[in-house]
Amino acid sequence: MTMAVLLTILPISVKDAEASASKLEFDTVATEHNWKEYSTDYEEIEVGTHEYTYWKNFIRHKRTCTITHRIKTVVYYCEDHDHTKSETFLEEVIHSGNHKHD
Ligand SMILES: [Zn+2]
Ligand SMILES: [Zn+2]
Repeated sequence: MTMAVLLTILPISVKDAEASASKLEFDTVATEHNWKEYSTDYEEIEVGTHEYTYWKNFIRHKRTCTITHRIKTVVYYCEDHDHTKSETFLEEVIHSGNHKHD
């Protein structure tokens, strides 16, 4: 009776161990991926405003400047595991006012 129980349980537990082992392997940094650039997107996000002053004809002017971040998002696809990852980069900080930065 004891033997029979052992025999039926064993194959299942081995299979479970294998499954979790392969998942662990898949998650580690050492896993080789076949990342290929899949798509590149740009988007501009307004992040805030600030005031700046400038001189024109000996008069001090004040203006509000809008700061925009140009974000680049690159999506990579790995055909070995059929999954994707994305990375974002801050490409440029754009000031709407054409002024000098301190
Ligand atoms: Zn992969
Ligand atoms: Zn500015």
